[in-house]
Amino acid sequence: MSEAVSWAEPDNRHDGPNRVRQLPATLIDQIAAGEVIERPASVIKELAENAVDAGASTIEILVEDGGRRLIRVSDDGCGMTPDDLVRAVDRHATSKLHDDSLDDIRTLGFRGEALAAIGAVSRLSITTRAANSDQTGFAIALTAGKKSAVEPAAFNRGTRIDVRDLFFATPARLKFLKSERAEMHAIADTVKRLALANPAVRVILKSGDRTRFDALASDLTDHDALHRAATLIDRDLEDNAVRVAFERDGTTIEGFAGLPTHHRPTATSIYLFVNGRPVRDRLLMSAVRAAYADFLPRDRWPVVVLFVRVPPAEVDVNVHPAKAEVRFRDPQPVRAVAITALREALAGAGHRASTAGGAAAVASFRPGGVDTRAAIPPRPQQSNAWPRDRDAPGGFAEAPVAFAGIAPSARAESAAPDTVTVRDGIETPLEEHPLGAARAQLHENYIVAQTDDGLVIVDQHAAHERLVYERLKAALASGSVARQLLLIPEIVEMDEGACARLVDAAGALGQLGLGLEAFGQGAVMVREVPALLSNADIATLIRDLADHLDVDQSVEALSGRLDHIAATMACYGSVRSGRRLTTEEMNALLRDMEQTPGAGQCNHGRPTYIELKLADIERLFGRRG
Ligand code: ADP
Ligand code: MG
Repeated sequence: MSEAVSWAEPDNRHDGPNRVRQLPATLIDQIAAGEVIERPASVIKELAENAVDAGASTIEILVEDGGRRLIRVSDDGCGMTPDDLVRAVDRHATSKLHDDSLDDIRTLGFRGEALAAIGAVSRLSITTRAANSDQTGFAIALTAGKKSAVEPAAFNRGTRIDVRDLFFATPARLKFLKSERAEMHAIADTVKRLALANPAVRVILKSGDRTRFDALASDLTDHDALHRAATLIDRDLEDNAVRVAFERDGTTIEGFAGLPTHHRPTATSIYLFVNGRPVRDRLLMSAVRAAYADFLPRDRWPVVVLFVRVPPAEVDVNVHPAKAEVRFRDPQPVRAVAITALREALAGAGHRASTAGGAAAVASFRPGGVDTRAAIPPRPQQSNAWPRDRDAPGGFAEAPVAFAGIAPSARAESAAPDTVTVRDGIETPLEEHPLGAARAQLHENYIVAQTDDGLVIVDQHAAHERLVYERLKAALASGSVARQLLLIPEIVEMDEGACARLVDAAGALGQLGLGLEAFGQGAVMVREVPALLSNADIATLIRDLADHLDVDQSVEALSGRLDHIAATMACYGSVRSGRRLTTEEMNALLRDMEQTPGAGQCNHGRPTYIELKLADIERLFGRRG
């Protein structure tokens, strides 16, 4: 480039030759500190990790003014002897690397940098007492890198570290701090991750006088652990997540997978840990995305807490200054195991949909008539808990579509139409099935069913679309998509580019049971369709597929594309709203949903049904408090 550089350049004008000089130690420390300590949250991360490494069972964090004025981390861990205390604040001083090797790291810290770095840019004081020591406690202070002498101090147990006036010694860095709120937000996020990673430690976060959260230690039984995660992340999680527990070839994946209907607009509720260390790992992030790809719209994210454990030698944690990234020696198998673990957990959730909708529904009801006693606790209105058909292809007519997807076996049960099902000679009253007995169809789309302890409302279009999709996928996987020759081949006209894309993809489409070929310049001829879609509007389906191919061509691998195409086809082949169903058809649909993994949400991540418990209904009528 020849034009003048307009941005500021380092000022290296000088009179004589360059003089190389050794930088003073305090400056070196401040430069190094910049890599580890970026903002108050990074101080807290280092100090709280030290407390975990020290074996603390309670860690209390107090913050004032978003961490500028004061950060105090107190723990009840092993403490330090006066000798260790003096060394601990020096750079590259650590008690954690036993054999001078970075190959087998089992603690959170190991570089011996944090205390020196924090002390270089703030007023740091440490008070500590070594466990089982008969001496009192001791204290040391570091002000902008200057070390005080160790003094005796009355102290009970553990370690307390105070960091005051962070970055007062490096005004440039101070200027980059954000608002108190923003810093506090980053702090809370850091502490949440640390608390999630260490369920056996009670973690308390206070800001001024206010307790932000107090996550009690959990004994790692399923429910406690989920309860703790819900305390930290989102109270609704407790009812809207399934447990993940999976192991293969020495890689363990544990944690919680939010139900797909419990989705979010951003990825901030995905918490990933590798060997107990919170990480933001692209590989694992892509695994989460892949595992949910079938269930969520592209712009939505699930809530996930995932603990990945691999043998320490399989992962390099020493690739990032704040240790937020890791490098797996062999990444692909780890990704594959994570995907399998999540998929299995989600499949185990079967037809479950999020319960949050039930609560939202209850919240939206109002008792009629006069103002009775305050029977319904006011709840924040969740106006668009289920965004409607945002991404469903528009423009399809209410074409009468045959009700094709129902399993023939379910049909045969119509001898006892709406009281029992018979399987292996055992009669089950319909109400005892999870989705209950169909009682009515409303507005030609909503099936109302009665269960043992409540009622279920099913969106028949969404549910059927999902069933068709799952069936297409299963058929695809077994290589046996049932197909049907069209008596009169259908000619679909469209622009040449779209034709070319379809013809290019003819092989893949053929696997899905869709047989087509070029027909002159601007048309394709469809000879064969999947039997599941035999009554669909072929021309619209084909044009829509051409659009999807355009979007997906370069992005998706072939198999991903097939799933996507199957989803599009399912949308066209499923029962439209507006079709009246008989009681048997409705019950058959319910039984089918119960048997189909992932039937709790449609292909766009919306629930296919919602459930209202009798207790909630009673609450609506003021029969319960
Ligand atoms: P690292 O954690 O990488 O070893 P640090 O600078 O964070 O480096 O800490 C230096 C040393 O100080 C640690 O190795 C540990 O021995 C000691 N230390 C720091 N914090 C605590 C604490 N809360 N309780 C006990 N010892 C601590
Ligand atoms: Mg440390």
